Amino acid sequence: MYIVPLGAIEEQVLVAIGRGLEDEYGLSVRRLGVQDEPGYAFDAQRGQFSSAHVLRRLVTQVPPDAVSLLGITTKDLFIPMLSFVLGQAQLSGPAAVVSLARLRQEFYGLGTDPELVVERAVKEAVHEVGHTVGLTHCADTRCPMSLSNNVRHVDAKGAKLCASCVRIAEEKVKHLRPTVVPPGSAGMRNE
Ligand SMILES: [Zn+2]
Ligand SMILES: [Zn+2]
Repeated sequence: MYIVPLGAIEEQVLVAIGRGLEDEYGLSVRRLGVQDEPGYAFDAQRGQFSSAHVLRRLVTQVPPDAVSLLGITTKDLFIPMLSFVLGQAQLSGPAAVVSLARLRQEFYGLGTDPELVVERAVKEAVHEVGHTVGLTHCADTRCPMSLSNNVRHVDAKGAKLCASCVRIAEEKVKHLRPTVVPPGSAGMRNE
């Protein structure tokens, strides 16, 4: 698995995401060099960044030996039918992205809390990467694969996959072969 910072991202966030993914999926996590912020995905009317555009770009950058490539951005992401998304991924495709924008307390006018950002970022990374290995949303509200529409939901769940998701992920990962999927050919899964 690979992660890639899309712009400047705090080191502690990147380290924690890498560890979290290794713990949950049992695959080594490597980091690609820092890329530019996703200016190409900016939508001037919404003042936000299109997560589908970011995914389309990421898909073209998946290393040949990668099962998944997770981009991490500080920009606020959207899909056309929702006011925002905390992240997006391809279902059983290699690309995923998470946004830190709404994981920061400052977004809500509250005091900065770096540890809370790290915690939330790990949960969302495990969630989006879960989709890339074929996991769907989980009914267990403590499981990171449960759906989170806002940070209250993120805070309510844990960072450890439930027993059922672990079983499914193990089975799926066993059969995964690193593949580069051409842009637009894999289904997108929102949030
Ligand atoms: Zn689960
Ligand atoms: Zn999801």
